Amino acid sequence: MTPKPETTAAKALNSLHGKGGMPLIIAIIAPLLGGVLLVWQAWTLADVLGRAIEMGEPASALLPAIGLILGLLLLRAGLGALGEQAGIAAAEAIKLHLRTTLFSHMLARSPRAAGRAGSGAAASAIVDQVEALDGYFARYLPAALQAALLPLIFGAIILPLDWVAGVLFLVTAPLIPLFMALVGWGAQVATDRQARALSHLSARFSDRLRGLLTLKLFGREDAETAGVVEASEALRRRTLGVLRIAFLSSAVLEFFAALGVAGIALYVGLTFIDFLHLRTSPLTLQLGMFLLLMAPEVYNPLRLLAAHYHDRATAKAGLLEIERQLGALPAAPAPLADIASRPGAAIDLALSNVTLRTPDRLRAVLHDAKLAVSAGQHVALLGPSGSGKSTVLEALVGLRDHEGVLTLDGRPLADWPETELRARTFLLAQKPRLVHASIAHNIGLARPGASRVEIERAADQAAVSGFAAALPDGLDTLIGEDGVGLSGGQAQRVALARLFLRDAGLILLDEPTAHLEASLEDEIMAAIRRYAEGRTLVVATHSLAVASRMDKAWRIAGGTLLETPLPARKRGVA
Ligand code: ADP
Ligand code: MG
Repeated sequence: MTPKPETTAAKALNSLHGKGGMPLIIAIIAPLLGGVLLVWQAWTLADVLGRAIEMGEPASALLPAIGLILGLLLLRAGLGALGEQAGIAAAEAIKLHLRTTLFSHMLARSPRAAGRAGSGAAASAIVDQVEALDGYFARYLPAALQAALLPLIFGAIILPLDWVAGVLFLVTAPLIPLFMALVGWGAQVATDRQARALSHLSARFSDRLRGLLTLKLFGREDAETAGVVEASEALRRRTLGVLRIAFLSSAVLEFFAALGVAGIALYVGLTFIDFLHLRTSPLTLQLGMFLLLMAPEVYNPLRLLAAHYHDRATAKAGLLEIERQLGALPAAPAPLADIASRPGAAIDLALSNVTLRTPDRLRAVLHDAKLAVSAGQHVALLGPSGSGKSTVLEALVGLRDHEGVLTLDGRPLADWPETELRARTFLLAQKPRLVHASIAHNIGLARPGASRVEIERAADQAAVSGFAAALPDGLDTLIGEDGVGLSGGQAQRVALARLFLRDAGLILLDEPTAHLEASLEDEIMAAIRRYAEGRTLVVATHSLAVASRMDKAWRIAGGTLLETPLPARKRGVA
C-alpha cells in the first residue's frame, strides 16, 4: 500500500527538523523559559500588591520586589526576542537546505525521465512552495511546544495553591485544542487547494513571461491576461476559504479562553465576598491576585498556537505540492557526478528496427530504421528540413523515446546510467540554450573548473574569439537567457565551443554551421574533424560541403534512413 500523502508530508517535515540545528533548539527553549519566568513575575507582582494593600507596607520596603519585577520583564522580553530571531534563523537554514536539495535533485534527474516538471512549475516548487515552510519552523513549532507544555506547567503550579482554579485550568485548557482539531480537519483540505492554486498561478505566470515576445507578436496578450486573471481569481477564492476557517478556529478559542478567565474571576470574587466556601484556608489577596494574573496566561500559549496553526497545514500542503511537481521529495542531495572527467573512447552505435515519433506521438518520423556506425567513424546525416534529423540525434542520447533496439557500444540505451551517458556523449542541439552570464561562463559550463586558457582555446576553435573581440567586454560580455544579443550562428558557435572542453566518445552535432558563410564553415569543420579524430561523430547538416568531409553519409527521406553516396567535395547545399 502506498502511504497516505498526508503522512509522507508529515514525515518529510519531521526529517527537516534536524536541519534547524541550534537555532531551532533556542527558538523552542527560549519561550518555555520565558513562561517559567512569567510565573515568578506574576507571583512577585501579586506579592507586592498583597503586601501593599493588605499589610500596608511602605513603598521603600517593596522596592527590591518591584526591581525584581522590572528585571524579570526585561529578561522575558530579551528571551522573546532571542527566540524569535533564532526561529527565523532556523527557518532560513531549513529552507536553504531544502532549496539546495531540490535544486540538485532536479539537476541530477534524467532528462529522459517522463513527466518532467515544466520550468515554471519547478520554479514555483523551489521558490514559492519552499517559502511555505517558513511559518512552520519560525513560529508554529515553538508555539506548539509552548501550548503543549506551558498550560500543564502552570496548572501544576496552581493546583497545590488552589485546587479549584487548578482543576478549572486543567479541564478547560485541553478543550481548546480538541475543538480546534475538529475545525482543523477542514483547514487542511482548504489549504491544500490553496497551495495548488498558488502553484498553478505561478507556473502559468512564469511560463507566459518566458514566451512574452511570441505572445505579443501574435496578439495573444488579452487571452493570456484573461487566463492569468482567472488563475488569480481562483487563488483569491481559495485563500478566502482558508481565512474563513482560520477565523472560525480563533473564534472557538477565544470563546473558551474567555469562559475560563471569567470562571476564575467569578470564583475569586465569590470567595472574597464569602459566597463560596470551597477552600479550607482563607483566600489571601496575594493568592487571589496571582490566580487572576495567571488566568489569561494559561490560555495564551494556546492562543499563540491557534494563530500559527495554519502554518503547519501550509507547510504540509507546500511539501505535497513540491512532491506533486517534482515527482518525489528528495531526502538528501544527490551527488552531482563530475561528467567531464570520464574517458572519451570512441563509441559505436547501432539501430535496428527503430521507430521514432514526434513529441506528441501522433506521427512516426522514422520507421523501422537500421543504422550502424562503427567506433571512430564520422557520419553525415542528410535530409530535408522536418525529415527528422534532430529527432534521430536526440534519440541517440536518450532525449526521445524509441521503439526497437538502439545500442551504444553494444549496450541498449536504457542500460546506460544517466551520468555515464552524459559524460561520454556530447550533443550540440539545433537551438542550444545559453544562460544569462558571460560568454566565457557559458562555454565553461561544459567543464566545471576549466581554466581561462582552456576556455579561450575552445573559443578559438569554435570561431567565437573573432566575433567576441568586437563585443564590449570580449569573452566576458554578458549574454541573455536565450543568447539575446548574439545572432543564431554566433549562439550556435558559443554552444559548439563547449565541445572542445569535453572528452566525449560520441559527438552529435545538429547543424553546427547553419547560417555560416563558406570560409567560416570550412574553418570550424576542420577544427571539429581534428578534435573528433578517434571519436565517433554524427553531423546533421544541409551542407554538401560539410557532408563531403565525412567518412559516410546517411539520408532520411520519407521516414526511412538509407546510406547514400558521399557528395563530391565541392560546394553546394543538400
Ligand atoms: P529536422 O531536424 O530534420 O528538421 P526534426 O527532427 O526537428 O526535423 O522534426 C521531425 C518532425 O517532427 C518534423 O516534421 C516536425 O514537424 C515534427 N515535430 C517536431 N516537434 C513536434 C512537436 N512538438 N509536435 C509534433 N510534431 C513535431
Ligand atoms: Mg533539425
